[in-house]
Amino acid sequence: MTTAFIVNSGSSSIKWELVDVETEQRLRGGIVERIGETGAAVDHEHAMESILAELGDEHPVVIGHRVVHGGSEFTSATLVTDEVEAAIERLSALAPLHNPANLAGIRAARAAFPGVPNVAVFDTAFHQSLQPAAYTYAIDAEVAAEHHVRRYGFHGTSYHYVSRRAAKLLGRPLEELKLIVFHLGNGASVTAIDGGRSVDTSMGMTPLEGLMMGTRSGDLDAGILFHLGRAGFSLPDLDTMLNRSSGLLGVAGNGDMRDVQAAAAAGDAAARLALDVYYHRLRHYLGAYLVALGGADAVVFTAGVGENSAPTRAATVAGLGWLGIELDAFANNRNSRDARIVSTNGSRVAVLVIPTNEELEIARQSVAAIG
Ligand code: ADP
Repeated sequence: MTTAFIVNSGSSSIKWELVDVETEQRLRGGIVERIGETGAAVDHEHAMESILAELGDEHPVVIGHRVVHGGSEFTSATLVTDEVEAAIERLSALAPLHNPANLAGIRAARAAFPGVPNVAVFDTAFHQSLQPAAYTYAIDAEVAAEHHVRRYGFHGTSYHYVSRRAAKLLGRPLEELKLIVFHLGNGASVTAIDGGRSVDTSMGMTPLEGLMMGTRSGDLDAGILFHLGRAGFSLPDLDTMLNRSSGLLGVAGNGDMRDVQAAAAAGDAAARLALDVYYHRLRHYLGAYLVALGGADAVVFTAGVGENSAPTRAATVAGLGWLGIELDAFANNRNSRDARIVSTNGSRVAVLVIPTNEELEIARQSVAAIG
């Protein structure tokens, strides 16, 4: 059996999966958590050794790693060499929480599996097709160049997978499709995809911009930072507030969409407001991207909220029959784990639910990268 070993290494955990390359089935998987805490693996290398022990005599043909930030350098999955490791380390300046953890996973895997090729699959790579008008921030050009300030976009591996799966479901070539894909997990973003290429995306230089998320604010007036800074908030205070205690958590006091929807249904006013803001933001981007693409063949929902929350999908496209978007209430409310169409037969724009599978996409790209 030919297998790929997929590694998603975070600051305190390593998630892994073993994928059968031929059948594309997930064979096994697991997670080592609380790395660095007492009673757990002391570091990524030890965590990888325990995973190695679990794998037994499995010999994967390739090890695929999720890497969050590939900057402007990486436009596709890349075989890891010492130079690539050094580049990922340099790019840590742009993703200080993620890239060092991803790199720790790569180093541990290279040490644990000598002779097996490692491939880095970047969350940003899919968005390297963005044009300057979409990725440029209107700030001092010299400052932007010196500090690599531009929109990069994230969740690219998911968009890559979901856009192909959507084309298959629609029975049409991806090259002729205009898609608006909402990836709504704890982190959330939306991307306008024309012929398989990202033309605009809501996350920016960092995964903080755009939609309202579980604990991140999404879009806000940068002037708020100066206002709060003058009121005594430090840079770390602001970082923590916007990344960890904003979004649903900030407005409703709970960062989990299921809980917020349940609280709103029970009459909690803060939860109701949080949902209203969340939906308002989704519709804002839907409108913007319909114009950016000049219409759409499909609006696609994926990830935890997108796949499971019928009310979120309904709120996003409510009242848009005049644009040719008509949800089928029965299909939308039906629980399923399959890729499916939830719009009416007559809807000019299809509405789809496509379960994402980032591990499988990493496996596919890793196998392709080693030829
Ligand atoms: P991550 O970004 O961490 O991978 P997920 O894609 O798993 O996250 O999405 C997690 C989010 O999905 C949580 O906010 C969770 O409440 C939400 N979610 C999962 N199931 C449902 C559901 N049935 N209804 C509403 N939200 C849901």
